[in-house]
Amino acid sequence: MMQSVDIAIVGGGMVGLALAAALKDSELRIAVIESRVPDSELQELADVRVSALSRSSETILRNLGAWQGIVDRRASPYMAMEVWEQDSFARIEFDAKKMAQPDLGHIVENRVIQLALLEQVQQQSNVTLFMPAQCQTMAIGESEAWLTLDNGQSLTAKLVVGADGANSWVRRQQDIPLTHWDYGHSALVANVWTQEPHEKVARQIFTPQGPLAFLPMGGSQMSSIVWSTEPSRAERLVAMDKLEFNKALTAEFGARLGLCEVIGERFAFPLKMRYARDFVTERVALVGDAAHTIHPLAGQGVNLGLLDAASLAQELTTLWQAGQDIGTKRNLRGYERWRKAEAAKMIAAMQGFRDLFEGDNPAKKLIRGIGMQLAGQLPGAKDEIMKRALGLKGDLPDLAKYSLSSTQL
Ligand SMILES: Cc1cc2nc3c(=O)[nH]c(=O)nc-3n(C[C@H](O)[C@H](O)[C@H](O)COP(=O)(O)OP(=O)(O)OC[C@H]3O[C@@H](n4cnc5c(N)ncnc54)[C@H](O)[C@@H]3O)c2cc1C
Repeated sequence: MMQSVDIAIVGGGMVGLALAAALKDSELRIAVIESRVPDSELQELADVRVSALSRSSETILRNLGAWQGIVDRRASPYMAMEVWEQDSFARIEFDAKKMAQPDLGHIVENRVIQLALLEQVQQQSNVTLFMPAQCQTMAIGESEAWLTLDNGQSLTAKLVVGADGANSWVRRQQDIPLTHWDYGHSALVANVWTQEPHEKVARQIFTPQGPLAFLPMGGSQMSSIVWSTEPSRAERLVAMDKLEFNKALTAEFGARLGLCEVIGERFAFPLKMRYARDFVTERVALVGDAAHTIHPLAGQGVNLGLLDAASLAQELTTLWQAGQDIGTKRNLRGYERWRKAEAAKMIAAMQGFRDLFEGDNPAKKLIRGIGMQLAGQLPGAKDEIMKRALGLKGDLPDLAKYSLSSTQL
């Protein structure tokens, strides 16, 4: 059976669902096609895939009605951040109270974000969910695109949105070239119990091998770690027996929170920078990891993706209200320019960090130390860094702007 919609969103992860939710008040008919149904049961031990959500992401999720669903399930606010370098005087601290902020962000399991958004989208009369279903073919015509799904269903849409992650099927179907490079790191993720409480502080140490972050989770002694290191070392760390791993982790973190004990599984993900040459082609737009992926060292990947979703929703609503075709490359150029510029700035910043902290050359180390001290002491510099991390800077879509109604929950 052929179904006709205005927008077919391929990928019902955090970003694809945020886009569908951001179009809740529009007349646009939307299909969301997602290959995996997320398990709605949360285990006592948190998932290892978590995200540090910035203030702008929180505002978007509040405006989409999903924030309460996140908080009700599980979210861990962090009130301060400490960043330092191994064997050096380089160190910088940020404190929510001193910056007149309620917190510096929240650590949330990716599945929790997805479930809270799904709950909203399921209530929208303008959305049809195809879940589980996978796209099999895509053909682009003059005024619409055709999709066939593995369950035998077919769709036509004025616009197909690729929200299908780093290895985007939609991007590959369109042969959109990718600028990419290897960060030379894999990120090991795991849940870790620490001897000392984290006191709701997010911590990151830079070592010559890469950054190691301890993100505070619900229990006062539980953290989610993101340990970026050389890929073969990451593989060894995943395969190592637990006692040996605990020793290696405690040593790498300088025993900052006392002894560490890994709880549950460890996974490692190879880290690549990816930047699609086009975020938009005729009848196709890319959002989130389908358009760009960055190093997780500043925890900005999904924050950037949620801003893509909010920006695209805004552009589509404007086009629709003006009676314009929502699927032409020409009409979507505004979205492309906007989000390519923001993604490029973030990629450059991540590369700058990555290069600055690489290696243990003494001159570089000195510069890092002086730089961090200056940033900590210069009036306004710390505020500026934090505003960027909170996502309060840059060209924000309306859904990410601070509003009175968004402070109610
Ligand atoms: C180790 C690590 C730590 C990170 N930490 C942070 C952090 O602290 N903060 C932060 O902001 N970001 C972080 N990120 C980045 C963040 O995880 C990603 O940016 C985010 O998951 C991207 O969301 P997405 O919805 O675009 O893609 P995904 O989460 O990959 O979702 C894509 C969805 O599409 C579905 N799909 C794929 N192909 C098809 C198809 N053909 N048909 C139907 N469905 C399909 C998939 O099942 C999936 O549900 C981290 C990344 C890594 C690797």
